[in-house]
Amino acid sequence: MQLTGATVVVADPHDPSRDHSDPLVFTDGWVHHGPATADDDTLDVTGCVVTPGLVNAHHHLLQSGFRTLPGTRAVPMRDWLPRMAAAYAGAGIDPSLVSATTAAGVAEGLLTGVTTVADHHLNWPAGASAEQTVEIADAIAASARGLGSRLVYVRGSARDDPRTAADSAQAMAEHFLSTGHHGGVTADGMLQFAVGPAGVHSDAEETFRLLGDVAREWGLRRRTQANEQVDIEIALERYGRRPLDLLEGWGWLEPGVTIAHLCDVTEDEIARLAQAGITATHAPGCDVPMGWGIAPVRRLLEAGITVGLGTSGGGSNDAGHLLADARLAMQVSGLVGQQLEARSVLAMATAGSADGLGRSDLGRLTPGSRADACVWDVSGVADAGVADPVGGLLWASPGRRPRHVIVGGEVVVRDYALVTDDEDRIVAALEARLQRGPA
Ligand SMILES: [Zn+2]
Repeated sequence: MQLTGATVVVADPHDPSRDHSDPLVFTDGWVHHGPATADDDTLDVTGCVVTPGLVNAHHHLLQSGFRTLPGTRAVPMRDWLPRMAAAYAGAGIDPSLVSATTAAGVAEGLLTGVTTVADHHLNWPAGASAEQTVEIADAIAASARGLGSRLVYVRGSARDDPRTAADSAQAMAEHFLSTGHHGGVTADGMLQFAVGPAGVHSDAEETFRLLGDVAREWGLRRRTQANEQVDIEIALERYGRRPLDLLEGWGWLEPGVTIAHLCDVTEDEIARLAQAGITATHAPGCDVPMGWGIAPVRRLLEAGITVGLGTSGGGSNDAGHLLADARLAMQVSGLVGQQLEARSVLAMATAGSADGLGRSDLGRLTPGSRADACVWDVSGVADAGVADPVGGLLWASPGRRPRHVIVGGEVVVRDYALVTDDEDRIVAALEARLQRGPA
């Protein structure tokens, strides 16, 4: 397949000098080095900007079924957590629920340009066996795969028994990775498996240690959340130390670890994060409405820390629209120092997120990268008068959606419509499951 006529192809989001308007050729799921052949289908993208597919580095897809819940807005996280937990328990977490919530969250992502989503799945039915948790994880993976999206499935925990969490993670690794993998990524690159406790506010040292052991055995990435208000409060209350001090002592300030949120970090902590080689995920679409503050992203970047972008889940953000959150990240950044440029936020939402996941094959459209792309039509009135069409992707036209989305060389969204499933069916299935309740 080849894309022709683009106004701009953003090949390397970090390097504007590599932007071009040449045909972009995809072969066998990869960005091709040479010209197209006579067999290649052509997609005319005249009047469009082509970027790498967006990488949502931090989502909680289950929450897609629990948006705008009464009692979860303008409340402290101490009240938010039990209300969300009660809603999950009422609905009953099982394969049918997660299949429906995943389909809604992943379809929303694809329609808004997200070609890879990391699902930090934290909640499990009480007393679930390792086998039952594998069935839940498998339903999530199958739902994403059916829609043609890449998924990074993160076996999370939130107050789980440490040994139970580790046994479950081990069983999932055996299930997902038995046919071969590289660093937890399957050969086709469609599924990646990782592990991650919710944070020091919810999980004990033993959970971090045991999940860390599973990660080491299988070569998996690790992720957690740190330094939002409640995390710091609870760490000080319970341990008399700040979250990053605890993570350091528990073996979680190391390369291969990504930390989401980081709203409140000191200069000394930023230096230690950089020194430790961790990566960060910024999630302003969650942090701002939750009242947690704004992560000092420019200072993290200047310290040499790779920063990606995530939406976090529907319980706090209510949307999985990563480009909208890129716009928000840019807009609020000036409140905590010098404003970020559109280009550097676009780089966070693509290559930055990908690098945090250990996926240098994603988030760029240079030869040898995976053929994941968004085609943004900038010929309409909302883009009229825009001098810089790449900056305009973020600054202009809030709520912008891509005209076409391609994953692994396959068109999954064409002319703003999902190709791989029916949007109405996905909505109806989630609504029916929420009404029906657990089997
Ligand atoms: Zn989060």
